[in-house]
Amino acid sequence: MAFPESFTLELLNRIDIVDIIDKRVPLKKKGAGYSANCPFHQEKTPSFTVSPSKQFYYCFGCGAHGNAIGFLIEHDGLTFLDAIDYLASSAGLEVPKSNFQSTEKKQQSSNLLEALNIANHYYKSQLRESSQAIGYLKDRGLSGQIAKEFSIGYAPAGWQNLRLAFKDYESNTLIKSGLTIKNDQGHHYDRFRDRIMFPIYSTKGQVIGFGGRVINPDDDNPKYYNSPETPLFQKSYELYGLLLARKAIREKGYVIVVEGYMDVIGLAQHNIRNVVATLGTATTEFHIKKLIRYAPEIIFCFDGDKAGQAAAWGAMNNALSALTDNIQLKFLFLPNQHDPDSYVRENSSKEFESLLKQAIPLTEYIVKYLTTENDLVGQEKKVKFLNELESIFKKITAPKLVLLFKKRIAQLVGLDIDEINQIISTTKNLYKKSKIKTQSRIPISPTRRFCLFLLLKPKLARVEDLDFFSSDHLDDRLARAIIETTSFDKNYNTVAIIHYLSSRFDGELIDQLHVQLTIFDEGIKIEEEIDALRSNIQRRHFSVSNKFKLNEMKQKSMNALTAEEREFLKNITKR
Ligand SMILES: [Zn+2]
Repeated sequence: MAFPESFTLELLNRIDIVDIIDKRVPLKKKGAGYSANCPFHQEKTPSFTVSPSKQFYYCFGCGAHGNAIGFLIEHDGLTFLDAIDYLASSAGLEVPKSNFQSTEKKQQSSNLLEALNIANHYYKSQLRESSQAIGYLKDRGLSGQIAKEFSIGYAPAGWQNLRLAFKDYESNTLIKSGLTIKNDQGHHYDRFRDRIMFPIYSTKGQVIGFGGRVINPDDDNPKYYNSPETPLFQKSYELYGLLLARKAIREKGYVIVVEGYMDVIGLAQHNIRNVVATLGTATTEFHIKKLIRYAPEIIFCFDGDKAGQAAAWGAMNNALSALTDNIQLKFLFLPNQHDPDSYVRENSSKEFESLLKQAIPLTEYIVKYLTTENDLVGQEKKVKFLNELESIFKKITAPKLVLLFKKRIAQLVGLDIDEINQIISTTKNLYKKSKIKTQSRIPISPTRRFCLFLLLKPKLARVEDLDFFSSDHLDDRLARAIIETTSFDKNYNTVAIIHYLSSRFDGELIDQLHVQLTIFDEGIKIEEEIDALRSNIQRRHFSVSNKFKLNEMKQKSMNALTAEEREFLKNITKR
């Protein structure tokens, strides 16, 4: 159930991330912190670090980072709430219960999360009541255990069932979360009706949206239907099933990407767990970047029909720019008339797994696709082939892959590699791409430095400083948010404040903060740095605001000046 965010902050303040990680990944003392081989990517020398003072982990190899809650979610595959429960009991704290109505004043995103969480509980309770819905799932070969694991629910037929779950059914929160729709006449009604409900979890373990499937064969609405895009849910970033699949993906070393929720669940029913699905959209570059954090190999599994072929080509195109030499993409096409769910049900998990071995590597797939209707006989056909390849090569930034692929192409068309190089130009920044983007140096403004030091020693924050950060600039907003958080509770530590910030700022900024805090030298004298920066920022602030004041006063005649303004003039000319 939902609980106050202040509890999460208190929890992060109480626990020790070193203990929690050390139990799972034995840590070695190194400098002021600890290190180990990264549990999130394959490596031989340790680049995974845990900081006892900042209470977060950061991997220099793959960029994985987060707090203790995040670690449990990522590493153990827990949901957000389960991670909270686990940490609370290990710290001897009791998780407070609160309900949706009592937290009106919370930020929008946490309101949306609470609404979705409540709806999820409601849909699950409705599944237990509906023999028709249960019958549907049984017919599809799903056990109660699997339905429970995936938190499958049921949205009953009827227009306003969610009234039973929410006191304020007409609230904007329900509309914004995608649970209800308001029509032109101002009537509110449930978006999902008479559908099996599949909650979509973020990798933080929170429900961020739903997918629904019709169960009534006479229902002429679209078979599958997702939540609309909301502040929490963007289809091009999210993958269905990732939360539960992560552990298996790491263990197996590869991930299978399918097209539907039922494919993920159907395969899980047959104990194939390293599976995720895109959500009614083509695979995007973001999906790929997300997945390669867990395993270096991705197998796209498509239906054998025309639609499957088109989806595969789209996925390939989107994947190119996310490729590096360390990752492998493969493509698998199922026999006609089959999707992964139907295939595994009609055959077996063993047969499905042996089918996986026939998945073809990316470059072979491209060649195969482009030569289905082009036998490469004669110059014209070869030119056509090379032209089609050019746009593909332009998107690949993995140098070894480009080289090997070009060799293969050269063989196919009977040219040597130099000739191919002349014909196909590749992207210019080919050899320059840095290993991880986040590690490239982002220029740090004095305000940002000030923020970073405050995060390291929150006790040094002063409410009086708020005046210096009044602009709409990101770093100013960040400084204000940090100072405000410390004013709630002087004892918040680095990680508690970052957690607080993470619901108010973009993920990209939070990523940056982790990197910037990690590369700070532990030996730095924070008090001195903060004092120096504070007077620097003050000086800048006063010189800017003085300029404004002077400009204003220039408009007035000397007599029109107030006593205060005269005093100001006197002081400023003295300097
Ligand atoms: Zn790593």
